[in-house]
Amino acid sequence: MSVARAAEVVIVGAGAVGCSIAYHLAKRGQRDVVVIERAAIGAGSTSKAAGGIRAQFATELEIRFSLEGIEAFQRFHEELGVDIGYVQDGYMFVLTDERTLVKFRKNVELQNRWGVPSRIISSEEARELAPQLEIDDMVGASWCPMDGHATPNDVCMAYAAQARKLGVRFVEETVVTGMRSVGGRATVVDTIGGAITSPCVINAAGPNAGPVARMLGVEIPVYPKRRHIFVTDRFDEFHHPTPLVIDTGSGFYCRSEGQGVLMSPGDAGDVTDYADVPVDWTLLEEAVDKGIRRFPVLEHARVRSAWAGLRPLTPDQHAIIDWLPGVEGVFCAVGFGGHGFQHAPATGRYVAEWLLDGHPSLDLSPLSFARFQDVSTAVADAGSVLSGVD
Ligand SMILES: Cc1cc2nc3c(=O)[nH]c(=O)nc-3n(C[C@H](O)[C@H](O)[C@H](O)COP(=O)(O)OP(=O)(O)OC[C@H]3O[C@@H](n4cnc5c(N)ncnc54)[C@H](O)[C@@H]3O)c2cc1C
Repeated sequence: MSVARAAEVVIVGAGAVGCSIAYHLAKRGQRDVVVIERAAIGAGSTSKAAGGIRAQFATELEIRFSLEGIEAFQRFHEELGVDIGYVQDGYMFVLTDERTLVKFRKNVELQNRWGVPSRIISSEEARELAPQLEIDDMVGASWCPMDGHATPNDVCMAYAAQARKLGVRFVEETVVTGMRSVGGRATVVDTIGGAITSPCVINAAGPNAGPVARMLGVEIPVYPKRRHIFVTDRFDEFHHPTPLVIDTGSGFYCRSEGQGVLMSPGDAGDVTDYADVPVDWTLLEEAVDKGIRRFPVLEHARVRSAWAGLRPLTPDQHAIIDWLPGVEGVFCAVGFGGHGFQHAPATGRYVAEWLLDGHPSLDLSPLSFARFQDVSTAVADAGSVLSGVD
């Protein structure tokens, strides 16, 4: 597909983050926005996400992003006219040691200060909420009934459709192959469909954000890590709906998916650049072993389908929302790890404010590049990032 030769704003990547930014920019009146996508809208990590939306985070900024996301998902149908399958069944973090319990207690205190109705519950109470839960090794759980899930692809497509109505142009099946700065005033974005020049380019390339920044000679600490999801057949022996239950000890999580069960064993393999993301079926055994430990009834489940996707991680597992250092006019909204889908609504709004008003209405400095004092060290450190739990 051929691209226009110039645009006011060029967004690289039509995932949840790129589409939300496009929508929020257009809604604020920004004209001449072009989104370039190498595959199809939403085809990257967004379509692989489990759809989890939780306010149970450990930092103020992430809690505030989540609260804004939850509000946006609650009024999504009204605002964008699309049913995104949003349900608030709750999230439960299973805690199996005292140190983790203390940490989660602190997190809950912070969440409560922001109005999140999370609380630490006893193992017995946890089993009332998830009746088939094995609790013999538990010291308690962190529970929030406000948490839930929606369908990431529907959210992404709805943002794209609405953005399109507001004048944004989406160019799919068009790979960005290179970028160069022209005298600091503009950036030329080379694509397989021709070059496009813009004073403002946004890197929203998800797990591929590192290679995209490298096109301008800048290394950024974003690394993809593979995660699998397995979904069972209809499974009536399992109690439905079971909320999302995360075993903090093993990294395993599961929840009802209709009358079946969606589950994940956690991250797989080393931090790496995957060209494509094949399913490693040997991980099914790991998922089932960890699953049976927490829900013995899963022994009788039959897995129907599986997929794998990439979580774009940073060394501290927080996103980066900032101007790219050393290059004029290139902005990054990258490194969202396991929460890029749920944080896309807030990201879109704040990035639009930053670009149109000169600053966002919320202090996003904790998500700046500057927190990595030495980016080259951060790039090296990214090799040892811990597995996230979402
Ligand atoms: C198994 C799994 C489960 C997850 N579960 C959750 C969850 O429950 N909740 C949650 O919030 N998050 C979850 N995530 C994380 C979430 O999927 C990501 O954080 C989020 O989708 C990132 O969105 P994005 O728009 O930044 O990236 P993407 O959706 O990957 O979009 C980036 C786009 O950029 C395009 N692109 C890349 N390079 C180029 C190029 N050179 N030229 C043109 N286009 C390019 C890609 O094709 C892609 O479409 C999960 C992830 C995985 C893998």
